[in-house]
Order: sequence, then structure tokens, then C-alpha cells
Amino acid sequence: MSAVSIAWKADGEVLAFVVVVATGASTRPSPWAVPSGAHVLRTLNDCVALHGDLRAEWPGGGAVVIVGGGFIGAEVAAAARALGHRVSVVDPLPAPIGRAVGPEVGAHLAALHHRHGVATHFGVGVQAVEGSAGDLTVRLTDGAELPATTVVVGIGANPNTGWLAGSGLLLDDGVVCDAQGRAQDTPGVYAVGDVARWLDPDSGEHRRVEHWTSAVDQARCVARTICRPDSPPLRQVDYVWTDQHDCKIQILGRPLLGTRTEVLGRFTDSSAKAAALYADDEGRLVGAVTMNWPKAMVTCRRLIGLRANLSDAQEQIQLPSHCRPT
Ligand SMILES: Cc1cc2nc3c(=O)[nH]c(=O)nc-3n(C[C@H](O)[C@H](O)[C@H](O)COP(=O)(O)OP(=O)(O)OC[C@H]3O[C@@H](n4cnc5c(N)ncnc54)[C@H](O)[C@@H]3O)c2cc1C
Repeated sequence: MSAVSIAWKADGEVLAFVVVVATGASTRPSPWAVPSGAHVLRTLNDCVALHGDLRAEWPGGGAVVIVGGGFIGAEVAAAARALGHRVSVVDPLPAPIGRAVGPEVGAHLAALHHRHGVATHFGVGVQAVEGSAGDLTVRLTDGAELPATTVVVGIGANPNTGWLAGSGLLLDDGVVCDAQGRAQDTPGVYAVGDVARWLDPDSGEHRRVEHWTSAVDQARCVARTICRPDSPPLRQVDYVWTDQHDCKIQILGRPLLGTRTEVLGRFTDSSAKAAALYADDEGRLVGAVTMNWPKAMVTCRRLIGLRANLSDAQEQIQLPSHCRPT
């Protein structure tokens, strides 16, 4: 089947083209409408508005309640603490970034926030947000009430597919694509990045990944496929980093597919290096989380790409002696 569409201009000239959909995602809007003081974070304007409230002088000091303990919530928590605010994070999950790292490393990340003075309310939801900037109340489903000068709602993003309604493309939490980014059943149309849900050739599932490295890898793959339709499918190794307080956390692959976790070093000491290596039932390395240890991250990235085993990673990653548990 041709990957190129043909169109005719009014003067009869023939145009050959492909379409690459790369419209990204939009913040999931806050379900709690208040006149001011509640923020989401996606665009430059969102950032400027939040910055204004975080820099404002509030009588008695600022109190920031963050709804959602994902990447955005956890990073804003760290930034708001660094600015001297009292900070609380609320999430129905048991740990921050739990959807990416699982409960064990998630608990270490929660402890990191606690060490830096962030209060957490995990395993509980938000019932209502009331008031306005400087005088807000966040009511939790367990009956607790958190006063806040500023609220940040970081509860995820939705793919920007509204404009594609009626286009004939298969839309299901994004544009559904094969493992080379070709939109399903629609020759000549491709999709990349946050808006796209690609087939993972290994697991057979379609996945939408909201990391900019995935957007770049997918764009390269689509460019190759347009030029050479017989190019190989993309075998993505997901990669994202996040700086929180004094730690650089790097997350690779798919830790949640792991049934066994090996921890090197101590996540409890945020000045040290540590890594969690995740293996599946067959011992294959499927994911890794590193703390302050870019070299281990590079090794893991290569090994996951090679479909290597956990034992290979254990052989190749040597923890410096000063980071070893005593
Ligand atoms: C606050 C924040 C921090 C982040 N930090 C990280 C990070 O540290 N590391 C990481 O890997 N990822 C991070 N991400 C995610 C990363 O930004 C995205 O995964 C990446 O930008 C996706 O690229 P994209 O090209 O698919 O979409 P985008 O970069 O969102 O680009 C989509 C573009 O399409 C435009 N558009 C939308 N609809 C239409 C339309 N109908 N017509 C024309 N144009 C349209 C949009 O305006 C936008 O310019 C972060 C995201 C946010 C919001």
C-alpha cells in the first residue's frame, strides 16, 4: 500500500504528500474552578502565572498545595520548597511518580520529599478546591482541609486529537499507529510524540509516551519510514529525567514490567549514587531508575536496548566504594 497521498491542484498539477500529526497534548483541566490562585502547568503563560503567585509576598508566608504527585507535581513541589513555601502534595497513589517507578522506589522518592520538608497526603483524593488566590482551601476525601495561598493541579494531559474528529483516523487515547508511526488503516498519515499511540512490537500493546526523547525517536523513525517504507520498526527505550531537590533521577525502559528489583547503593542518601534495576520473570532487564548516576543510566540504556539480562547490568555497573552500604 502506498505511503504517499496524491492531491490535484485546480490547475491539474499533481502533488504528492504525507501528513505527520504532531499536535502534542494539553493539560487535563482542573475539575475545581476557582476565580484565581489555582494553576496548571503546560505553556509559557501557565509558567509565568504560577511564577507570579510563587514570588508574591503572602501574609504569613506562602502555602502551596499540589494536586497530583507525578513529574510535574513532584518538580513543582521541589521548586516551591526551594522558594521557602510550605508545600503539600496530594495524590490517590501511594507514592510520587508511582506510575513510572513503582512503589519501592516511589517510597524512596516520598522520603526524599519528606527530608526536604514537603508534606504528603498519598492514598487520598481531592473533593473540592474553594476560595481564591491567597486564601484557598483544598478539601480531601478523608475529611482533611488544607489551607493554601496557591494550588497547582498536575493531573495529566490529554492528546490533542479533537481537531481530527471525523477525519477517519483511528483515535483511542491518541492517534493509533503501527510500530513505524503509520496511522492505522490510513495510508499517507503518520503521528509522533504526545499525540501518538504506537504499537510496541515486543509487547504487542499500543502505548502513548509523553517524553520528549520519545517524540524525537519517533520523528526520526517516521522520517526514515517515509523515505524507506521497509525500515525496521522502532524499539523504544523510554527515557526521562527529573531533578527534584538535590537529586537527579533518571528513569529508563519500563520499570513496572519488572517482577524483581535489585537496588545498588542507597536511595536514602540523596548525595550518593543509587540505581534500581528491574527484571522480568525471565531475568531480562526491562527498566532502571538511577539517582545522581548518569554513567549507570547510559549503561542501562544500552543494555535494555540490547535486551540484556539483569546479570549483565550487575556485572557492568560498579558502585563506587564510597556509595556502598556499610
Ligand atoms: C511542564 C512540562 C515539563 C516537561 N518536562 C519534561 C522533561 O523534563 N523531560 C521529558 O522528556 N519530557 C518532558 N515533558 C514532556 C515533553 O514536553 C513532551 O513529551 C514533548 O514536548 C512532546 O513533543 P510533541 O512534539 O509531541 O508535542 P509538543 O511539544 O506539545 O508540540 C505540539 C505542538 O502542536 C501545536 N498544536 C496543537 N494543536 C494544534 C493544531 N490543531 N494545529 C496546529 N498545531 C497544533 C501545539 O501548540 C504545540 O506547539 C514536559 C512537559 C511539560 C508540560
